[in-house]
Amino acid sequence: MGDCLFCKIAASQIPAKVVYSDEELVAFDDISPQAPMHVLIIPVEHVSGVGSLSSAHDALVGRAMRLAARLAAERGFGESGYRIVINSGPDAGQSVQHLHVHVMAGRAFEWPAG
Ligand code: 5GP
Ligand code: ZN
Repeated sequence: MGDCLFCKIAASQIPAKVVYSDEELVAFDDISPQAPMHVLIIPVEHVSGVGSLSSAHDALVGRAMRLAARLAAERGFGESGYRIVINSGPDAGQSVQHLHVHVMAGRAFEWPAG
């Protein structure tokens, strides 16, 4: 775990507004929401980013995607839409080196992303 912020959130050592958790995944509200819904989904296991995923994580990533869709639908955004984002590396603005899936909804998003 080292000094990883999201490992500490997964271990409940740092508070967060957790909206879902199981043995493999934790979802919590982003501390600085960029949309009315802005949830982060993380693996409990420390994985630094998409570049560190192996085939052993395939089912985990699939579950994370389905959880993203379910959380958005539960909040009423299944039809209006939502955006799922994974930033990887400095050019994409990844600021926390523990894999996280942004799930954002409740406003219209521009494309291409900024
Ligand atoms: P990234 O820029 O790496 O793609 O996304 C990191 C996200 O983590 C940002 O949206 C940021 O607001 C969020 N974040 C950073 N620190 C904390 C924290 O301590 N708690 C929560 N809930 N979110 C955080
Ligand atoms: Zn971590």
